[in-house]
Parts: sequence; C-alpha cells; structure tokens
Amino acid sequence: MCLSEQLFNLYPNMFIDLPYIECDNGWNNIISDFCYNINIIHKQLTEDQSFKIEQLKEKFGVLTIYLSHYPEDKVIYNNIKEIILNSVKQSSITCEICGAPGRLRTGIWIKCKCDNCYDKYPGSRKPLLL
Ligand SMILES: [Zn+2]
Repeated sequence: MCLSEQLFNLYPNMFIDLPYIECDNGWNNIISDFCYNINIIHKQLTEDQSFKIEQLKEKFGVLTIYLSHYPEDKVIYNNIKEIILNSVKQSSITCEICGAPGRLRTGIWIKCKCDNCYDKYPGSRKPLLL
C-alpha cells in the first residue's frame, strides 16, 4: 500500500475526497509525521473549527501543504502553523528522492536533493505519485 493510501486510511476525516500526494518518496517520513501531529489537533476540533487537508505536494523545491481553512482560534491556528512550517523546513533539507540530508538545487526545476541524487539526476525531475 502506498503512503497516500496508508494516510487516507489512518486519517479518513482529515482529507478531502480523492486527494493525492504529489512528491517523491524521500519525504514520506516528513509527511507521515506531519499527518500524525496535525491529527492530534484535528481530532480535538469541533465541526465548525475543523478543516481538511486539500493538497500535499512539492512546489518550488519544498513540501507545500494546503488546508481548506484555518480555525479562528489563535492558539490552534499558531499550533497548526508551527507544524506546517516545521514540515516545510524539514523538506528543504531532506532529499525528496531518497530522504538523505539534502539541499535545494536549482536547474530546470528547484528541487531538494542530496549529492548522490543530484549526480544521478542533475537536471531532471522524476515526478512519482505516492
Ligand atoms: Zn537523495
């Protein structure tokens, strides 16, 4: 079972219908941790505060997360923001292809890669659906 299926099964109320994760496998742990941490908040929310994860994808070399909206409660809002920013920060130093320490590389596309993956795929981007 791929990561997106696992996460949608684990957290069925947290995603909009038919979502998918659009990045390579190197960020699987970052995405799993993000979902675990955001679910701790999500399951405590009332229906009017609740939100859905609309997209998880790579954009401009980092993990990009879209929520349907943010709760108005400032404390909850700040907690969610912190979890998102931490995941984005992790993705900017983690190879999107293999998960090793990496850094952002420019080329045709901006992508976070380790030295090995950069040598293997210097200019190319291999989009893989999880
Ligand atoms: Zn790599």
